[in-house]
Amino acid sequence: MQDVVRQFVNLLFPPLCLLCERTLVQGEKFMCTHCLASLPHSHLHEQRNEVLAQKLSAVLPVRFVLSYLLYQKSGSTQKLLQFLKYKNYPEVGRVIGRQFGGRLQEKGYGEAFDVVIPVPLHPKKQRQRGYNQSEEFAKGLSEVLEIPYTTDWVIRKEASSTQTRKSRLDRWLNVATIFDVPEQEKVKGKRILLVDDVVTTGATLEACATALLEGGCKELSVGAIAVA
Ligand SMILES: [Zn+2]
Repeated sequence: MQDVVRQFVNLLFPPLCLLCERTLVQGEKFMCTHCLASLPHSHLHEQRNEVLAQKLSAVLPVRFVLSYLLYQKSGSTQKLLQFLKYKNYPEVGRVIGRQFGGRLQEKGYGEAFDVVIPVPLHPKKQRQRGYNQSEEFAKGLSEVLEIPYTTDWVIRKEASSTQTRKSRLDRWLNVATIFDVPEQEKVKGKRILLVDDVVTTGATLEACATALLEGGCKELSVGAIAVA
């Protein structure tokens, strides 16, 4: 959109903060400065999210287990994730990725990874939604950490039927074989940061991590926006 048109549209429909609905001022995107500053950061878990670490199998050799925000039902994290996943706001993922990237950079993680990889959505689901929310998160991280992100090193093969109403074992079996690393030579020797939006059972993330580890990456870390 041309600047003049955008200014006119903004005049008629000023963009509002997604969280508190205050009118945004110049330089603010999707969230006002106040809401951005009061996001429930998981300070204590920034370096290692134990809940997430436990969700991933104990034998999986994961280097860093990172998460950005605390998740509370009806809290601002959940609200943001709803915009990101269900209300066609892919840019929110990028904004969150940049914020998290800044924090990781401060803590010295800038040198810890060679590449960021989002957990792939099934192609059919991605077509319906129009984007992969984890990929948007990866883009924001990649920008700030100044490391590339890629979406073709690990692919998703088939739709897993719905996860609810299945036993833990069934869920695990259901997703265990859906990821594939088509060209192992790309993955070999790399330090990968695998990222997901919100982790619930951890089964999908674990299956994707396993595929990359079997593909021969040197080190695998995981990062999530939040752990439910
Ligand atoms: Zn706000």
